[in-house]
Formats: sequence, C-alpha cells, structure tokens
Amino acid sequence: MFLFIPLICGTREFNSAYDNKPEHVGLYCPHCHNNSVAAVKSKEFFTFYYIPLVPVHWGKQLRCSICSWKQDFTGDAELDNMTGYQKPQ
Ligand SMILES: [Zn+2]
Repeated sequence: MFLFIPLICGTREFNSAYDNKPEHVGLYCPHCHNNSVAAVKSKEFFTFYYIPLVPVHWGKQLRCSICSWKQDFTGDAELDNMTGYQKPQ
C-alpha cells in the first residue's frame, strides 16, 4: 500500500532591529530608489512543517522593506562606512 504524506519544508527568516540609532533606518535603497533600507539582525532557519529547526544563515544585513534588496555587513565600522555618505550635509 502506498501512503502519500506530503513533507512540507522550507526556510524562514527572522529579522530584528540592529540597534536604535536613527541613522541606521530610512537609508537610500540602490535598487528601488526609496528611503526604506534599515540595518537588521537576520536569522534564517530550515523549517519542517513550519517549525524552525536548523539555523542556516545568521548575520547583519541592510534590508529594504519595499523591494527586499539586502546586503550583508560585518560590524559597526563597515555599517558606518556604508551609511556615512548618506548623512545630510
Ligand atoms: Zn528597495
């Protein structure tokens, strides 16, 4: 007897704010040209039946809330270097 049981698996991302500094939100997005990029801490998990089981990626990212553009960064120095040119004159 053949019993078909679908295995539902995939990945899911969990994002939280990187810090509370106002200069790390509302940054310019090079993809969709909106000021909608924010620095986030991101964790991606492998899920089985929608239950997160195994972490597959974690790190710090600049992420656009409109077009989902994202770019990794390693720490405060790199983030300040990437966002420094966007500060108002
Ligand atoms: Zn964008």
